[in-house]
Amino acid sequence: MKKKSVNNLFFFFRIILFTLIYFSIAKMSLSFATIHNAVSPIWPPTGFAIGLLYLMGLKYLPAISIGVFIVNYSLGSSLPAVFAIAIGNSLEAAVGVYLYRWLNEQTETFGIHKRTFAFILTAALSAAISACIGISSLCLFESASWRDFDSLALTWWTGNAMGTILFFPMMLALSKTKFRKIPLAIALVVSGVGISWLVMMFPQGAPYLFILFVYLFLSVNVAGEAGALSSITTVLVVALYSISNGNGVFFLGSSNSNLVHFQLFFSSLCITGFFLIDYKNEKIFKSLTWILMGGWLLSGILFAGFYLKSLQLSEAEFNTKIEKLEAYIQSKMERNITALQSGAGLFAAKKSITHEEWKSFFEQLNLDVNLHGLLGLGKITRVDKKNLDHFFFEMKRNGQTEAHYKSLGADDLADAYIINLIEPISRNAPAIGLDVGSEKNRREAAELSRDSGTPAITNSILLVQDNKKRAGFLMFYPLYAGLNTPTTLEEKRSKLVGWIYTPVILENFFSSIFKNKEFEDLTYLVKGSDEENDKTFAMSRNFNLYSRNGIKKRSIKMLNQIYNFEIGTTKNGIASADSLPSWVAAFTSLLTLIVAAFVANSLTLGTRAQALAKKMTLELRSNAELIEKQQMKLIQSSKMSSLGEMASGIAHEINNPLTVINSKLLILEKNLNATPLDVNKIREHIKQIERTTLRIAKIVKGLSAFSRNTEDDPMEPAILTQILEDTLELCRERFINQNMAIKINIQKPVSVLCRPHQLSQVLMNLFSNAYDAIVNQEDKWIAVDVFSEANFVKIRITDSGPGIPEEITEKMMEPFFTTKEVGKGTGLGLSISKGIIEEHGGHFSYDKTSGHTSFVIELPIIS
Ligand code: ADP
Repeated sequence: MKKKSVNNLFFFFRIILFTLIYFSIAKMSLSFATIHNAVSPIWPPTGFAIGLLYLMGLKYLPAISIGVFIVNYSLGSSLPAVFAIAIGNSLEAAVGVYLYRWLNEQTETFGIHKRTFAFILTAALSAAISACIGISSLCLFESASWRDFDSLALTWWTGNAMGTILFFPMMLALSKTKFRKIPLAIALVVSGVGISWLVMMFPQGAPYLFILFVYLFLSVNVAGEAGALSSITTVLVVALYSISNGNGVFFLGSSNSNLVHFQLFFSSLCITGFFLIDYKNEKIFKSLTWILMGGWLLSGILFAGFYLKSLQLSEAEFNTKIEKLEAYIQSKMERNITALQSGAGLFAAKKSITHEEWKSFFEQLNLDVNLHGLLGLGKITRVDKKNLDHFFFEMKRNGQTEAHYKSLGADDLADAYIINLIEPISRNAPAIGLDVGSEKNRREAAELSRDSGTPAITNSILLVQDNKKRAGFLMFYPLYAGLNTPTTLEEKRSKLVGWIYTPVILENFFSSIFKNKEFEDLTYLVKGSDEENDKTFAMSRNFNLYSRNGIKKRSIKMLNQIYNFEIGTTKNGIASADSLPSWVAAFTSLLTLIVAAFVANSLTLGTRAQALAKKMTLELRSNAELIEKQQMKLIQSSKMSSLGEMASGIAHEINNPLTVINSKLLILEKNLNATPLDVNKIREHIKQIERTTLRIAKIVKGLSAFSRNTEDDPMEPAILTQILEDTLELCRERFINQNMAIKINIQKPVSVLCRPHQLSQVLMNLFSNAYDAIVNQEDKWIAVDVFSEANFVKIRITDSGPGIPEEITEKMMEPFFTTKEVGKGTGLGLSISKGIIEEHGGHFSYDKTSGHTSFVIELPIIS
């Protein structure tokens, strides 16, 4: 009683412990959910659950159910959904255990890969259960939509199946492993991390993905199953890390295609691992080395080819993108020029423009919305320095902003280029009154525009209105007096009135360009063309982060200026979402396995054939033993039934001598009373009584000998006539009773090597069949002829019957064939007789030529 409650307490604690372990593994696994925050590409808790129930028993199912419940509840799912998911996952684990057990019993179906297929099928089928129930409940009770059922269920299914495929066998392996090889394990893990890191964390390493198969091979070679599982886990962890860092061969595009790449690779690696374990266990691992290595080499080359080709394709895509970018920048400039031109148009139509008019013009253009990066739109007027006071006075009078002259340094020039209008004024107030001609860069660009009659921009300058002191430029468009643009330089210079201009902050301008959807995945850095002044004008925030993905340099001309662009991409490997390389990899690695499996099959064929032959021999032997025993039983039972048939006859056999004795005793008594005593007569009677008792004893002896089990008797030389005599002794009286004549004709006594009791049984059978056949006939006789021929003696037993019809002779030697009524015949007599004679090296047959019913026994004679 006490012991039981202690046991219960232990069980209870174990449930709590396993629940906690399940919960922790699940929480850790959720952090693997790098590809999608709710979807882990691999779900180890399922493997743990099936492993636990398989190793410890289904009674621990509550630990799994509670664990699932808590995990999902802590994720904030609704109660009905949590219940349904708990049921689905518990069912998954329990079904998984039964499936695995059952599959493991199907020995012949899967050959040496039995365990591998058991793992794969268990994983696939059990995961389907929880995926269906889990996703249905999410669609029913949570926000998930039925439209996404298939894609969600697929992700759930693959994640759980993967978890089982890796972690269930790992638990089985761990349960058997004695932790003796810890240094080896550490070496494997460290080298695994190193190799995976090279392949997965660097774009240059990606084409060499197939090295990992070789690593797996070596791990299995040195550490068998434990090696396979630990190296696969190591690769897995590094792969997940690389994905979460936006790196590596699997990080190729959308999260969905990442998932496909990752799972394709991972399942190929897992399946390969299992096949290798099978080969190791079958001890044919080393013979397959070159086939596997060759297969992986070819696969590796193919993969690298396809992978590099996919990069090249996307390299072309990248170039196209940059061309588009250049065109886009030009179109942006065009639009800016158009804005300046329309400003110029306004001044051509009207001599003097008030601030209010400029403002409403600016608002009509809606520049703030349409042309990001421009700080504003303004007008610059050329003023003779002598007239500056008058100019500022007129400005005020014309309803423009009140301002005074501002110089940027050089004021020894005859003309001033004064900014007298700008919108939005709020942002650009410091510019009003500024003499852009007083600064070299500005003046050069303005005059370039004046002399060419086209727009021009300055080198990078600091704008007066930007207190953040970012690099910017001014863009000028010339305004001439008169309706037509002057043609000669002289004319242009003399007719110049001023400029329409716009101040631009480079950083704003470029960031507004890269904000376009089309260029979202590009990173950029823009510098001026001036090598001495190698200043960065604009840079995307993630530029350095992704610069290792490869940078392309472009010089882009904007009007009279050249800007140097460095353009990169946030997409690793400059990739497209092309999954072809992954499919090629998965396919070729499986092909390698198929070839290896064929070879393995032929390698193990010999041993398997031997094992099968051995097994079948054993089976046959035990079958033969069984049959022999069965035969012996039959012989015995047929003897007993012959005895039964003879019972009435035997009663006669004994009764007759008893009657003889009885009557002799009566006569003796009379003779004893008579006087004188005739001693001789008395002696004669006593002799006769003695003879008769001897005869009874002989019959009884014959009976007991006949009923004995003879199977273990040794072969011994015996005189055939003696056996015949003894047998006849048992049935003579019966024949005489029915008036059957017995004709015996023995050429000469011969000896045979035999088990006498068995021969006696054969003869008895034949006599009793003859008896049955003729008992109701007029003419009743039985003839026994014994004659020798070379090394053989023939015993022919003939009865007065007319012969046996052909349809019966065909079958009568078969066991259980009888024409006699139930209870009388067993149908065994002839078949057993034939068996016995043949065991004696003789021949037993029915002679259809005799005219009567005649059976012939042939036996070798001892000479
Ligand atoms: P059972 O005597 O129990 O029927 P046997 O194997 O000794 O079994 O004989 C098979 C059958 O062969 C008999 O039922 C009978 O039809 C036939 N048969 C055997 N011996 C004789 C015979 N001497 N005369 C006629 N038929 C016989």
